[in-house]
Amino acid sequence: MNVIALLAAHLVALQGQAVQLSQTHEPGLEAVEVRWNDHTIPYVRRESEWITVVGIDLDTRAGAYPAEIELEFADGRTATRTDTIEVRSKEFRTTELTVAPGYVELSPEDQERAARERREIAAVYSKLTPTAHWSEPFAVPIPGVEGGRNFGHRRVFNGQPRAPHSGADLRAATGTQIRAANTGTVVLAKNLFFSGNAVFVDHGLGVFSTYLHLSEINVDVGDTVERGQVIGLAGATGRVTGPHLHWGVRVLDARVDPFSLLSLDTPVVQ
Ligand SMILES: [Zn+2]
Repeated sequence: MNVIALLAAHLVALQGQAVQLSQTHEPGLEAVEVRWNDHTIPYVRRESEWITVVGIDLDTRAGAYPAEIELEFADGRTATRTDTIEVRSKEFRTTELTVAPGYVELSPEDQERAARERREIAAVYSKLTPTAHWSEPFAVPIPGVEGGRNFGHRRVFNGQPRAPHSGADLRAATGTQIRAANTGTVVLAKNLFFSGNAVFVDHGLGVFSTYLHLSEINVDVGDTVERGQVIGLAGATGRVTGPHLHWGVRVLDARVDPFSLLSLDTPVVQ
């Protein structure tokens, strides 16, 4: 089988960004995949091009990282190239928050529950659906809402440093309708210790969106949700300072800013 080496590209992305990779279709091209951050992620064909999404976790160190791309043709030929994704650092603010003491100094029962739920969530994120459920752009779960620019903020709860903020907080009164950012399958819909009532949606290709602190969940695990479908109501359940929607996006194990999904453009090529 012939292996053809292709010209490599140099891409630029920021910490906490979802990045769309694309490959022009050519006759006989049957499959494309990228090896990124210990995962092999397939591309899907969209007419004249193939696309996929990779995530740059917010704590990825600035630097140049290889993305190995492999093309497979109908006649058995394969072609490979190694692109470089240059990750640039982004400044993240620190915010101080005050919450109920039980969410900072956990009881043994709550520690155990939180650990169990962390494993459950990790298992959800480890499943890579090899197709894309979406065909339209991603949308904000509360149309026209303000706020949500606090992704990646370093956080201090009741004076104690905790994990950085892995989503965007959108202003929402209790009862506000929360809509799926895009088409997908519900993979988790339950009450969690920190997240309160939570819905997790798998959009395919390793892209997941989460909707936390809901007052009400309107979907079940296994449901297919359409882009814009109401999946629950905003609330103040879990570790919160007041009612709002925490909207999160993961691309496999990378925590990315949900707003970076709205304009999923191919990164700057240098
Ligand atoms: Zn939040």
